Amino acid sequence: MKPRLVLVGLGHGQLEILDRIDELRTSYDVVYIGGKDAIYTGAFPQVIAKELDYATVHLREGIEPVASRLVSLDPIRRVVITEAGEVSYDVLVLATGAVSRGLGMAVKPMTKEGVHRIEASDAVTIVGGGKAGVELAFACIRTKRHVTLYAPDVLPDLPARVRRKMKRRLVKSGVTLVLRKYKKDACHDGLVLDTSGVVPDVWWEAAGLANADAFIETDRNLRHIDYENIFITGDMASRLNGGVDAVRSGRHVVRYLLGDRRPFRKRASLNIMLTLPGHALLTYRKWTWHGRLPYDLKRFIDQRYLKRFGQ
Ligand SMILES: Cc1cc2nc3c(=O)[nH]c(=O)nc-3n(C[C@H](O)[C@H](O)[C@H](O)COP(=O)(O)OP(=O)(O)OC[C@H]3O[C@@H](n4cnc5c(N)ncnc54)[C@H](O)[C@@H]3O)c2cc1C
Repeated sequence: MKPRLVLVGLGHGQLEILDRIDELRTSYDVVYIGGKDAIYTGAFPQVIAKELDYATVHLREGIEPVASRLVSLDPIRRVVITEAGEVSYDVLVLATGAVSRGLGMAVKPMTKEGVHRIEASDAVTIVGGGKAGVELAFACIRTKRHVTLYAPDVLPDLPARVRRKMKRRLVKSGVTLVLRKYKKDACHDGLVLDTSGVVPDVWWEAAGLANADAFIETDRNLRHIDYENIFITGDMASRLNGGVDAVRSGRHVVRYLLGDRRPFRKRASLNIMLTLPGHALLTYRKWTWHGRLPYDLKRFIDQRYLKRFGQ
């Protein structure tokens, strides 16, 4: 009998794993738990900016989820508890992502309904001045009456001259920049969007996968440090960061499951965020480039991704 491989969540890494399901099925009895679609976060700001019609990615044809949600997990008994009952596993791959802090409407995980809510609001208050918050502010100001961005600083990881330029561009575009921390009872206009970063989901600690308020520790192969039959991908893993890492983690796990034992290698990721119409800011470590070419490159990458998983 083949070992049972249970895949949970339609995160970026899981899409890569599911893409090779035919090869996996030769060695495993593969079972999937999760939704039939998800939002590709790299592209949904372009939907808000009316540059793309959709940012939804779909579960591959020919795969039927046995349940739609992991409710909890018992790594000792090796069972996933779902809304439809218990599912046992020999090997488990988790790709359920981390969650927003709860300072407003969660952008993680983003949903189709969430995208519609943002589209339907004529004013938004964005909390957090990292790449996600700044990109959303630039996207929202193209179609909304009023956009406020609350952040003690804008793009704090980037050089001071780039931060100054981006702040000027935000203000010139019409964004109201409030350079302080947002408090839950602070004045705000319209829908509040929480882009202040992600935090661990509560069930990780309850299942014994992580300490309180901590991301999940893995070895160099992305296996849980205590439970070697559990692989952790994407934002859940303490050693990974961002969507590019999430994709790479899925590619690593599927290769490992198919017999390639080379360890996961962490790399600095190239990041490109939408800014003014026809422009984007590319960042690689401390190196940045703002202009039309990064925009064209981003459009190419995102359209290729959506062609692969969005149809
Ligand atoms: C506005 C914005 C723009 C961004 N742009 C970029 C970018 O350009 N480049 C970049 O590298 N990163 C970007 N990021 C970060 C990137 O989105 C995340 O790092 C990435 O989504 C992490 O992927 P993941 O696979 O961990 O999980 P996620 O993408 O969070 O997916 C998890 C999936 O699991 C599902 N799920 C959750 N809980 C359960 C459960 N209990 N049972 C079953 N299913 C469940 C969710 O519904 C979701 O479909 C951006 C983030 C935001 C907010």
